[in-house]
Amino acid sequence: MRVATQSPLQNTFDVSANPTQAQLARRDLLDRIADFIERHDLNITGANLAAVTTALSGANAKLAEAFAAREISGEPIDQRWLDTVVRLDPETGARMTELEKLMDKLEYSLMRFAQTAKSAHDETSEHRGAIDAQIQEMAKGSNDNSSAGEMDRVIELSRAMLERISQVEDAMERSQAETDHLRESLAKARTEADVDHLTRLPNRRAFERRLSSAAQSAQQSGQPLCVAFCDVDHFKSINDTHGHDAGDRVLVAIASTLNSNASDTCFVARHGGEEFVVLFYGLDKDEAWRKLDGIRRAQAMKQMVNRDTGKPFGKVTFSGGIAEVTGVDETREALARADEALYQAKAEGRNRIVAV
Ligand code: GH3
Ligand code: MG
Ligand code: MG
Repeated sequence: MRVATQSPLQNTFDVSANPTQAQLARRDLLDRIADFIERHDLNITGANLAAVTTALSGANAKLAEAFAAREISGEPIDQRWLDTVVRLDPETGARMTELEKLMDKLEYSLMRFAQTAKSAHDETSEHRGAIDAQIQEMAKGSNDNSSAGEMDRVIELSRAMLERISQVEDAMERSQAETDHLRESLAKARTEADVDHLTRLPNRRAFERRLSSAAQSAQQSGQPLCVAFCDVDHFKSINDTHGHDAGDRVLVAIASTLNSNASDTCFVARHGGEEFVVLFYGLDKDEAWRKLDGIRRAQAMKQMVNRDTGKPFGKVTFSGGIAEVTGVDETREALARADEALYQAKAEGRNRIVAV
């Protein structure tokens, strides 16, 4: 008996013997993707792999350009930057818009279906009432009619029909209830899709939509609009010292400080990880700086304690970078400027806000 020395899987991937050009190119792309992920210390997530793959394979030239420019400038390609460029990439943006449109359509169809089901239900009930009355009449008349047998048969058929209508009515009522339930779930899913599960703040998706509508209103009204990136200082060491769950609680507390100190003219969201974003409506750069610096001070004054162990977290601070949004077509650049300002704040020693 022949003993198999190679599994079919090994066979498929064994390109060492005589690799074709395509196999070599694929191997090279895989190597470059792995190298890129490792070099920039990025998490291996589906979204990161997709972004890096489309950029390095050349499938998305704009993203490839952005990667190259960032590498040349020597600035870090980290999660926040990657999320920002990927989200604001026109192709990804277009896909998101498509998804939004699809959700709108689904919501509209469900609403129309609910309306149709309701009017069909009302109509059926009306018919049933009319037939019912008719049967009563016929039943009365059949007693003194010579062709009573025939009449009885008609009555019997009508009753059967009535029964059937009643069943259809019940089924419609059920499908109407199901549609209502579906519509509720869709509305809930929409809300949930905009909320960060840990902090319950709006998430990056909600922020990006808000940013573009705020930029539009600002442009129309001539009011200033500023955006800030905030990043918790040395957060990794909190996780390392106290554990990930304690780190999570610190994030919730910081989210709460940001949100409770921000006024109605601010919109606070969690951008991801230990990073938050704030929109300042109607505030110019200096006013936004004063506002955010006040929040920074409020946070820096807090003595936070790990409630599980009683050990102090020490001073947990954040740094922030602010930029003004000067037009609807310029939100991407404004975010990039805020990001640069944040790196400046980090470089200058952290626990500070820089406006550019
Ligand atoms: P810097 O002052 O330069 O910002 O330093 P840092 O330590 O805050 O920054 P770094 O980017 O090195 O580390 C951020 C850490 O945040 C790494 C990651 O594990 C952690 N982190 C990201 N998201 C979460 C989360 O949801 N919960 C917890 N507990 N940790 C998170
Ligand atoms: Mg960070
Ligand atoms: Mg940080």
